[in-house]
Amino acid sequence: MPDPLMLLPGAPSPRDPGRTVTLGVLGGGQLGRMFVHAAQALGYRTVVLDPDATSPAGLVAHRHLCAPYDDEAALAVLAGECDAVTTEFENVPAAVLRRLAAVVPVAPGADAVTVCQHRALEKAHFERSGVPCVPWARLEREADLSRVPASLFPALLKTATLGYDGKGQVSVPGPEALADAWAALGRVPCVLEQRVSLRSELSVVLARDRAGRCVHLPVQHNVHRDGILAVTQVPAPAVAAGLADKALRLATAVAASLDYVGVLCVEFFELDDGRVLANEMAPRPHNSGHHSLDACDRSQFDLQVRALAGLPLTVPRLHSPAVMLNLLGDLWFASPGAAPSTPDWASVLALPGVHLHLYGKTKPRRGRKMGHLTVTAATSAQARTVAAEAAGLLGMPPLWGGPAPVPAPSAAGPDDDAADPGLIQAMSGDGATPTAASLGPADERASARPLEP
Ligand code: AMP
Repeated sequence: MPDPLMLLPGAPSPRDPGRTVTLGVLGGGQLGRMFVHAAQALGYRTVVLDPDATSPAGLVAHRHLCAPYDDEAALAVLAGECDAVTTEFENVPAAVLRRLAAVVPVAPGADAVTVCQHRALEKAHFERSGVPCVPWARLEREADLSRVPASLFPALLKTATLGYDGKGQVSVPGPEALADAWAALGRVPCVLEQRVSLRSELSVVLARDRAGRCVHLPVQHNVHRDGILAVTQVPAPAVAAGLADKALRLATAVAASLDYVGVLCVEFFELDDGRVLANEMAPRPHNSGHHSLDACDRSQFDLQVRALAGLPLTVPRLHSPAVMLNLLGDLWFASPGAAPSTPDWASVLALPGVHLHLYGKTKPRRGRKMGHLTVTAATSAQARTVAAEAAGLLGMPPLWGGPAPVPAPSAAGPDDDAADPGLIQAMSGDGATPTAASLGPADERASARPLEP
């Protein structure tokens, strides 16, 4: 049954026939910018609320409300001019989403975003949904420090709110270091997580509509460097049989128990012992889903627009294996202390299957996400080879530093991408040009397909 709240693209607004249906987004970063691009491609008018006059999304939207997220006048304009509103980041005040929702459809809802804003609420929600996560403890006050079980160490201490890209995290080797670590983070509410031994990191990006129908992108394999996503690969290589399906099942359970509407990303750890544990989730498109702009016939931003507007959610199909590289501001600095200079895009763009996305940020800074680059190719091995070449041209560190992730022998099956010898060569960095690699059943299996509501 069609969504009764469906907003047809390019149509007159049901609230004000004098203007075109308008979608609003809270937050003007790169995720908001790519949402705006997807909405505009369909014919929607767009409004962005962001306090930064040069925000990436504000620069491309039909209207940029340059004001704080809780600015009364700006929120009144947003509510008055938009037919539906979404968010591009989880730290928008939940009270703002609630107030907007009294006037205009908002997705995702304030309750879901509230859970995603707080690591302890998030973990408690994972556990309530039957989704296992890393052993952890909640630290609210001094007295909690002495109650932490010794079995959690070595551990990571993370601020409960406002942490991202590895920020707000301190390594805690043993109980004796906990008080100092907590002081270093400002004695704010935190979670302490056991430091687990990771075989791989995976993520699932899904979209869920108001009727509970769910579709997802192919399961992504992610490599982080210094806590920041560095590389994403689809189809996920070396994922043991059944693991990707398990991650999909768990992510769907999380979305269902939140009664979620919109795009949701759940990040998972695969442990050395084969367990899959949820790490965290984001109530929005995710950096690990950026490949979908070029490698899928439906991007995560298209899905965000469709879920918000109540349009049908069709199943995204991965049409090319892909590798996505994050482009951090570091690339603009040839040496420490050097003035910023534009990276050698000409050489990179001369490589086959390279798609460059820059976010319109004029000031590069180390660690700042300036853009990303997706390499699509006929085979995973070829995508990896070209991605490694692009990284080399840009002076990035080796993409897959450390040993290539290979599946346990019992897990390797005909649908396991790592069983492809061309892929293994490329992953181990031996410089061999893959020849035999082909799009086998693994690539088909990893293509997105619908999930049960
Ligand atoms: P987060 O901001 O919590 O997603 O952490 C950023 C990255 O740090 C993760 O993607 C992992 O690579 C690593 N990490 C975070 N938590 C843990 C943990 N409990 N054990 C091992 N590695 C972790």
